[in-house]
Amino acid sequence: MGSKRRLNQSEPARLKKPAQISSAINEVLRMLKEEPGNPEVYYKYAQLLRTAGESEEVAVQLKEVLTIDPYDYRVENDLAVLYYNEGKFDQALEHLQKAASSDNNVVVHQNLGRLLTELGRYDEAMAEFEKAVTQMPASRPDKSTEPAEPSDVWNEGPSVKPTSYRKSPAIIELISLRPGLRENEIYARQSFCTVCGATGRRFLPLGKHNIDNLYHHGFKYLGRCEMTSIEEYACPSCGASDRQRLYALWFELEASAGRFRNRGNLIHFAPERPLERKLASMKIFDMMLTADLSMKDVDFHADITRLPFPAESFDTFICSHVLEHVEDDDMAISELYRVTKRGGRGILMTPIAIGPKHTIEGKRGLDAGKRWGLYGQDDHVRLYSHDDFVAKALYHGFHLLELGIDYFGEALFERLGLLETSVLYIAEKW
Ligand SMILES: [Zn+2]
Repeated sequence: MGSKRRLNQSEPARLKKPAQISSAINEVLRMLKEEPGNPEVYYKYAQLLRTAGESEEVAVQLKEVLTIDPYDYRVENDLAVLYYNEGKFDQALEHLQKAASSDNNVVVHQNLGRLLTELGRYDEAMAEFEKAVTQMPASRPDKSTEPAEPSDVWNEGPSVKPTSYRKSPAIIELISLRPGLRENEIYARQSFCTVCGATGRRFLPLGKHNIDNLYHHGFKYLGRCEMTSIEEYACPSCGASDRQRLYALWFELEASAGRFRNRGNLIHFAPERPLERKLASMKIFDMMLTADLSMKDVDFHADITRLPFPAESFDTFICSHVLEHVEDDDMAISELYRVTKRGGRGILMTPIAIGPKHTIEGKRGLDAGKRWGLYGQDDHVRLYSHDDFVAKALYHGFHLLELGIDYFGEALFERLGLLETSVLYIAEKW
């Protein structure tokens, strides 16, 4: 008894009002007299009894269905749920395994995954979640929107409208089970987007406009920055960039480890919309605020070098691909530090070139073409080196975590379409 995970019935009950339920029961009883051998009617009856709270009768009617059709996975599944809720895990397992052997059903695999997790059999659980993910229908892109050229190589994916933000519980459980498991053997080889849950779809390359400009202006670090995958940049369903998928993964992992239990608030600079929607759906913050100097639809039109917030205002921040646009990045980082609560932290990210010892910057009055060529975009003012970026964050008081492929694992990086050099920087204020 008292298990943490909830198993799902095969078909959710639709009726809620007692009067509707009792008239439906009368209708079913009448049908049972007319068609005594119809398994669907028994199944319906069992469902109605459960809705009416007559749980003892439910098992009797479900077993009645099995006498007519011994291979009905729905019945096996629902019997398993009954046993599970009574704490009879062995019987629940037996019925779920029968259900899984008669049909490849998402709910069944998911339930089996949860039960096996409850029993501490993580490897088998992961295999079931993997099957559930594979069975899930892939979400489709909205055909009515033409994928437009992204206006900003770092900050926006192609403007594909979000079509599906449904939660994918199996995917979330896959992620939360990750630590104790031999992931390479276990993960489905399908791609998946942690922002919208779409699976099995190819990520789209970086926009042509950007690639053309980078080539044309001779950007030396094309494909040689830590993040920003040229090949697998944007999710075709929600438009999220590779780095947004990495941030969403981190939020999922932190949430499943209970690190947002106290909720708190979030300030999101230059908010990436797909990520913003994802975080809202996770409900891990009591308050989410957005800020930017030029974007529409933000809560605060604010200059990051002079933030209109008192010290120690925020538990969490996201400042991604902002600093490379700001002349006085020292002031920006010191403002971030000031408004973060002690014990708070944030995602602090910029494009970082692989190779140069020092940040490339300092030339003023460059035209757009020169900026493309030197910094990778026409409105950037610098291109950071790893060492200088880290030194700067530390100088302003942050402790910096660098979470890369060793932390998240190769299999996850592959599924999310991330370059293996991708690093997530988490700035903590101790
Ligand atoms: Zn997506």
